[in-house]
Amino acid sequence: MPNRNKKIFLLLSLLILFSDVMFVVINHYASERSLHESLEKQSQTIQNSFSLTMSLVYENMLQLASFVGNDRKVQQLFLKGKKAVEAEGGGVGGKDSATVREQLYEQVSPGWNLLMEQFDIRQLHFHLGPGSLSFLRVHRPDKFGDRMDDIRHIIVDTYDEMASNTGFETGRVYSGLRGTVPIIAHDAEVGREVIVGVLEVGTSFKTVLKKLKSKSQVESLVLLNEEHVKSTMWPQFINSKLRRLSPDAPCYIEAASSPISINIVRNCSAFSGSQDGLSTFRTWFNGRDYAITRIPLYDYRAMKRSAGHNGSVGAVMVLTDISSEVELHEQQFRLNLIIAVFGFIIIETLLFISLRLAANKLQTIIDKQIAEIVQLKNYFEERSQRDGLTSLYNHRAFIERLDEEMHRTKRLHSPFSLIMLDLDHFKRLNDTYGHGAGDEVLVATANCIGDMARKSDIVGRYGGEEFCLALPDTDLESAQELAERLLEMIRTNLVHTSRGEVLSITASIGISQWDEESAISGFIYAADQAMYLAKEQGRDRVVVAS
Ligand code: GH3
Ligand code: MG
Ligand code: MG
Repeated sequence: MPNRNKKIFLLLSLLILFSDVMFVVINHYASERSLHESLEKQSQTIQNSFSLTMSLVYENMLQLASFVGNDRKVQQLFLKGKKAVEAEGGGVGGKDSATVREQLYEQVSPGWNLLMEQFDIRQLHFHLGPGSLSFLRVHRPDKFGDRMDDIRHIIVDTYDEMASNTGFETGRVYSGLRGTVPIIAHDAEVGREVIVGVLEVGTSFKTVLKKLKSKSQVESLVLLNEEHVKSTMWPQFINSKLRRLSPDAPCYIEAASSPISINIVRNCSAFSGSQDGLSTFRTWFNGRDYAITRIPLYDYRAMKRSAGHNGSVGAVMVLTDISSEVELHEQQFRLNLIIAVFGFIIIETLLFISLRLAANKLQTIIDKQIAEIVQLKNYFEERSQRDGLTSLYNHRAFIERLDEEMHRTKRLHSPFSLIMLDLDHFKRLNDTYGHGAGDEVLVATANCIGDMARKSDIVGRYGGEEFCLALPDTDLESAQELAERLLEMIRTNLVHTSRGEVLSITASIGISQWDEESAISGFIYAADQAMYLAKEQGRDRVVVAS
């Protein structure tokens, strides 16, 4: 391939390589983007199903609280208990309070066991209002009489607003998802309905995670911010009931669907435990890819205060196995890479072949042109060496050829003879028949000499009507013989001119043989002298130089 084509090939190759790389990069970027978008969408779906699960759980709590709280017997016992506690000085109350508490416990405990088993209920708690004075924890009947106004804001609000409520709150020991209903009882003493207190039904996040796992096949984890935990829980319970996500993470694990979910979140370097808002992280654990959706968690107070816009107390981390999506994405990348590499090879090969063909075509054209030029040059060279009238070598070309032949002869030590021929009385012929006829005689004579000459002989028009015939490998004797035959031929060959004249002509010949010592001029001079001698001796004859 010529240099110019090599440069074009290199330049085009670079361009192709560049677009190839761009193809891979853009495709990879697009695929990465679509994977990201699909994860975002998935994360939105997860958030929706989480919200739905939460509202179902809350709904459940409310239904159960309403069901228990609507029992007239329960209402009356609770009212009786309230009166007893008030009569016995509040707080834990006295003997009468204890009796009523016992009766209330007897009333609800059979149902309580069923609730625990079938609905995952963890707490059933009667609070006396206003505010919250714990009257009976059905889940823990030995503990009562404590005021919880500062940690059960939901209870305080339910009493004050006389309306049922739901929400999540962290207690001194546990966090709970709660449904609360005000308990209203008919007070026979005053003859009207009175508000007694609030019934709280609660469960833990474990229930939510369990439901998420069974309905959506996802592992999940609830984290509580360190700051929130420290502001609500009793210090002695923080370390015994909760575990940090990792030694330096500012969050605690409230619930986990399985131990592996903890390890996966722990392993996710992109998640520091302090991010906020709905976000998605990608991580790799035990040879599988996971997307982690972080859903911010708002407790009852945060929800109530600012409609859940800020002040999250923790987060729910939902893990989705996205190994197949990632594998598909990687497959797409590998496929793109293969397409790019093969495409590059194919395009390069085609480019190479076409440039090669173009170069060859160009070369053929150039070769043809050169051949034509050479032909033209040879033609002009040939023409410049030929005499225009007779087509024999002109004076200059004849001398050159003679010189070349002399060199060859010198090497081979072969004999070399020269015939110098001059037409007799040519001036007269010209004067009598005209210049045109003279020309025709010159051509006829040239043809005669040409016919006589061998292929290796050199024939030239030396002057006006003087011809030379150089005879390589020929001694004087043979040259003389040839000269005699030539004269005979000229003599007998009558020239018929175009004007109809029939002309007979004669010529005089001088012959010399070259001896290796003498120069070209001497060689010619000797023949010339012999020719003049022939003229002197009466013309139409051959004289050999002595
Ligand atoms: P001699 O026998 O002594 O050679 O006599 P000559 O007349 O042949 O010699 P001379 O040298 O006196 O004349 C040569 C003539 O040849 C003179 C010139 O006009 C003529 N001549 C030279 N070149 C050409 C040519 O190309 N065409 C024609 N028609 N005549 C030519
Ligand atoms: Mg002459
Ligand atoms: Mg003459």
